[in-house]
Amino acid sequence: MKVVKFGGSSLANSEQFKKVGAIIHADKDRRYVIPSAPGKRFPEDIKVTDLLYQMADEAIAGEDFSGTLSTIKDRFDEIIKGLELEGFSLDEQFDEIEKYMTETPDVDYAASRGEHLNGRIMAAYLGFEFVDPFDMVFFDDEGALNDKKTLRETRKLLADVEYAVVPGFYGRGFDGKVKTFSRGGSDITGSIVAGACHADVYENWTDVSGFLVADPHIIKNPAKIETITYRELRELSYMGASVLHEEAIFPVRRQGIPINIRNTNCPEDAGTWIVESTAQKSGYVITGIAGRKDFCAVLITKDMMNSEIGFGRKVLQAFEDNQISFEHMPSGIDTMTVVVHEDEFIEKEQKVVSAIHRLAKPDSVEIESDLALIAVVGRGMKSMRGTAGRIFSALAHAHVNVSMIDQGSSELNIIIGVQNRDFETAVRAIYDIFVMTQL
Ligand code: ASP
Repeated sequence: MKVVKFGGSSLANSEQFKKVGAIIHADKDRRYVIPSAPGKRFPEDIKVTDLLYQMADEAIAGEDFSGTLSTIKDRFDEIIKGLELEGFSLDEQFDEIEKYMTETPDVDYAASRGEHLNGRIMAAYLGFEFVDPFDMVFFDDEGALNDKKTLRETRKLLADVEYAVVPGFYGRGFDGKVKTFSRGGSDITGSIVAGACHADVYENWTDVSGFLVADPHIIKNPAKIETITYRELRELSYMGASVLHEEAIFPVRRQGIPINIRNTNCPEDAGTWIVESTAQKSGYVITGIAGRKDFCAVLITKDMMNSEIGFGRKVLQAFEDNQISFEHMPSGIDTMTVVVHEDEFIEKEQKVVSAIHRLAKPDSVEIESDLALIAVVGRGMKSMRGTAGRIFSALAHAHVNVSMIDQGSSELNIIIGVQNRDFETAVRAIYDIFVMTQL
């Protein structure tokens, strides 16, 4: 049994809907379908979800939102017309939305309607049952997913349904009202359904043929990743590679269900497999490279720091007290570096520096800004000699100065800090040495 989720660009208009229909009908195991709201049809287009947020702003401000609502309605009407759905209409639902938003305007309710209406069209088009996640996905009093209740209700609702469409992105809040996940959250709904129903695979259909070894904005036509483990994916997506919502991994991971990222526009491509563990070697020593700019390194120096018990705790306390989370913390004998996000840190920097002085009494505190971090990730790096050596010699040849190195004890990744201005050069040098030379 397969659970299949389709992203917004896969459902942006009736042409895309037809491709999706063909994909679903090509395999009778594709039983539960999770649609997103219609996305962009062309680069300058506006996603339906963004239009819905705009409508909510207007309604909440007491402004006239009928223009935005009719733009949204046009998007759905084009799909219904293009699919030639005889006798099917969403007029009633649109009246309901208008009434709700006039009487009790609400952001989450508005945003959720893109998936809801798309789900209704999809169910009619496929001849599948429509199952509302409002009765399936539950949030707790802190706004987090209520796993247990969601699992129970999902199993109950789908137990006797062979083929169903379940809209993504929303569920029921603790207050009994519609509540959405964060943006891109349909991925999470798909994962919940796949996990609850013990699917054999969770197919996530989008507009790219899976994960790439490096960012295509930096590397032209980068190699594709065929198989990646959940842990590798976490490392890469944390550092900026994004195809899947971060939280979408957990419900399927717990059940050992693989995720297959596929391309609606090239259904014959095998895509990328995301798995718990694998004996398959990646084509290269590394699985992927990702990175982000704009970090700061706070360098703390104190003679004999190493023998002072509690020094590290006091330094980190200064960050915690100011609600700043740290990314990495490489250390030397008398030095300790705390790497943080520049945008979170910058307005509180003097408070943090004075707190470090007060709590830990260091000899000096220096701040280095405009730092980029690059994560080189790969299960194949473990116990492989010379990986770090190759990275650093490639960077030296490219005249990139490395200002920080951090290797996790899992040997799954090596994090390298370079100046922002060297970021792209560094990524290219690392990609070349592992992928282009094929060693
Ligand atoms: N439609 C929502 C968004 O644009 C959720 C999703 O597509 O997953 O964020």
